[in-house]
Amino acid sequence: MPNPPPDLQTLREFSAAIGADPLIIQAAGGNTSVKEGAVMWIKASGKLLADARAKDIFVPVDLPAIQTAIAEHHPRADQPAEFALAGSLQPSIETSLHAVFSQRIVVHVHCVNTLAIVIRPDAQAILVDRLQGFDWAFVPYVKPGAQLAALVAKALGSKTNVMLLGNHGLIVAAETVQAAQALLTRTIAALQAPARALRAPDPVALDGYATPDFISLPGDHPAHQVALSDDLTAAAGAGSLYPDHVIFLGIGVTLLAPGETVSLAAARRKAAGLTPPLLLLVPGAGALMRADATPGALALARCLGDVLLRLPLGVAVQTLTPEQNGDLLNWDAEKYRQALNAG
Ligand SMILES: [Zn+2]
Repeated sequence: MPNPPPDLQTLREFSAAIGADPLIIQAAGGNTSVKEGAVMWIKASGKLLADARAKDIFVPVDLPAIQTAIAEHHPRADQPAEFALAGSLQPSIETSLHAVFSQRIVVHVHCVNTLAIVIRPDAQAILVDRLQGFDWAFVPYVKPGAQLAALVAKALGSKTNVMLLGNHGLIVAAETVQAAQALLTRTIAALQAPARALRAPDPVALDGYATPDFISLPGDHPAHQVALSDDLTAAAGAGSLYPDHVIFLGIGVTLLAPGETVSLAAARRKAAGLTPPLLLLVPGAGALMRADATPGALALARCLGDVLLRLPLGVAVQTLTPEQNGDLLNWDAEKYRQALNAG
């Protein structure tokens, strides 16, 4: 086992803090890393950043080896486990994304204020306005992993330390944990949008649709909000907006037609070749969730509400294509993460 860098402990504290904030990190999403010479310590796949203080969730990987694999477009670059130097944990499936940055500390988050912008087709124009004074770049959506890392590497200028990922999230990079923390705070502040006023769900109407398998979420759960504004219902109904939604909640969401039962909606999804429903929206009433939903699914249901509440009225969103959904669900590295989520 290589010796951990002296500031790994500081990174663990910072990782646990952002991991506990659902507006920045949801479930096992997001990851942090620190480079020390030829070794990069990165969060393990399927582990929660929130656990970074209490548990050992960082894996050392061979940095020059993975950098070479990315540069050569070698398929190994998408098998981060091949670069692990010790331990039984698998490095994050986004390890390659960290390896292409020259800075020591890299922090990748699925911040809801960022997502509310990068799911829009006009994301770049908004970012130009919001990120004046930052050394930033934007890359459009491609599947997370080596392909995205190669795209990010191409977009990096000599001083770029803020990277926006279309339909995905945000990366900040710095030489110290403190500088990364300050940059993350400053970037999120610049991207911040006010959340819409909350509307009250209709528990009586929801009870009319609920079954033992699909139950109403708590009244203050943000996912209800997606069902309570026509434009947000339409945005969610258009399809999946970012990868972890697909991984933890399945493809898109299910909108219940007036009077439609949960089992009819499930059959409709099945006939369309979609994943089984986990989150059901009853337009005008609120949201139902599978009674046995995992903590990961619940975190991503909350995320959908938190993201869409920050969408200005009537703006368009860009969804993942059926092929992009399929690529995520059929990816071995993601199947490992899904299996860990299922416990
Ligand atoms: Zn990500």
